[in-house]
Amino acid sequence: MARYTDASCRLCRREAQKLFLKGERCYSMKCALERRSAPPGQHGLGRKKTSDYGLQLREKQKAKRFYGLLEKQFHNTFVKAAAKKGITGDNLLVMLETRLDNVVFRMGFASSRKEARQLVNHGHFTVNGRKVDIPSYQVAPGSVVAVKKKSHKSPKFEEIKDMQISVPAWISVDVAKLEGTVLNLPAREEIDTPIAEHLIVELYSK
Ligand code: SF4
Repeated sequence: MARYTDASCRLCRREAQKLFLKGERCYSMKCALERRSAPPGQHGLGRKKTSDYGLQLREKQKAKRFYGLLEKQFHNTFVKAAAKKGITGDNLLVMLETRLDNVVFRMGFASSRKEARQLVNHGHFTVNGRKVDIPSYQVAPGSVVAVKKKSHKSPKFEEIKDMQISVPAWISVDVAKLEGTVLNLPAREEIDTPIAEHLIVELYSK
């Protein structure tokens, strides 16, 4: 499966915003954005894109990078969101939030979306008792996402059992059991990702 393999911190510098792609490091002074905030490249500081198109494009790039999707995957998600009833921008964010890799991250079973995606790919999770190793899998309300029994002993998950995890209101987690439930679809105001989704809708509507 295609994935982004270049330096993650470069993406944050490009968006001039923390995208939290590297787990713990993002919350420390080691964060590249704390040390060097100029956009990457020789002419980083000299670049200014203020046209409407430029703003829309940057917002789409930011959303894509936040959730770790490549262009095609992101566009496909947008097309599905647009085909649903309701507000396309809201649908898009809800679909991104309810991807299995994001849910695993939100439940606190991974320190970043990138790590969550890897753990899902490696088959460490079940949804309603069945193994699911597809990061883009859409988790429906009422679904129970759990660490596979066989993986409970891995140091990664042993560590989590002792942690205090705070989760958004649309999710509940039983850390001791290493499982969580998606209670309902998140409302727009429950999604804290700093994205102006209307700009993405405008971009794709051209
Ligand atoms: Fe972005 Fe995290 Fe790198 Fe900071 S450490 S620049 S938040 S990926």
